[in-house]
Amino acid sequence: DFSKGIALYMEDVSVWFDKFRALNNLSLYIKEGELRCIIGPNGAGKTTLMDVITGKTRPTEGSVYFGQTHNLASMTTEQIAEAGIGRKFQKPTVFENFTVMENLLLAAPKDKRVKKSLFSKLNPDAQNALDQTLATIRLGEFVNKPAGLLSHGQKQWLEIGMLLMQRPKLILLDEPVAGMTDAETERTAELCLELKKDHTLVVVEHDMSFIDTISEQVTVLAQGAILAEGTLAEVQANDDVIEKYLGR
Ligand code: ADP
Repeated sequence: DFSKGIALYMEDVSVWFDKFRALNNLSLYIKEGELRCIIGPNGAGKTTLMDVITGKTRPTEGSVYFGQTHNLASMTTEQIAEAGIGRKFQKPTVFENFTVMENLLLAAPKDKRVKKSLFSKLNPDAQNALDQTLATIRLGEFVNKPAGLLSHGQKQWLEIGMLLMQRPKLILLDEPVAGMTDAETERTAELCLELKKDHTLVVVEHDMSFIDTISEQVTVLAQGAILAEGTLAEVQANDDVIEKYLGR
């Protein structure tokens, strides 16, 4: 049972790949409006966890609930996306030859009015979604520029904008600041905090100072299980975390 205010609830989830257990009896509870960082060594199961949340990988055992009504086990990846879970992978997949505006409009496939209006005058709904998204990702001045001309950081923000066009409730970000300059990382932290105002976020990252800026709660995974949970300071002081992850 779960009450109002829970965005994501995983209970005793295990994922087996043949004889290898990538997630081991994992239970996770994320509140609405929370920004949760997931950290842990390579092979800890972070990607598998994100894959389970989006339906890309099915739990061998256990259950996953999104909000109060959605049991993700009985939903296709498309239904899960439509229910409001959006994911940005580490590598940007923007269409380089299309403009920033075209990329954003193409990213809203579920809303036919937006898609149909691509080659004609935008209807007010589409214009609204576009304006809001451009303001959030601060790429307004590039709206008619091909995405291929953007910097690495700007492409990442465009891709977050493409996610926003789908109006997700829960946003999953896979190493959002990998390869970014310090200034881009700082801007991404601001963006995450802005998104947190009306979204729940789950962020997989290695950059500790970035995590320190954005996150209240951190979950440390190791060998498919939760090693520690708490503030970054708390988990960094945890003996198991020091031994199995931080290695000092
Ligand atoms: P992380 O993202 O924390 O680095 P992963 O979730 O990618 O960890 O991987 C966890 C473990 O599961 C790794 O040891 C990986 O080799 C294994 N694994 C992931 N996907 C598969 C798969 N499709 N088949 C077999 N093993 C897998």
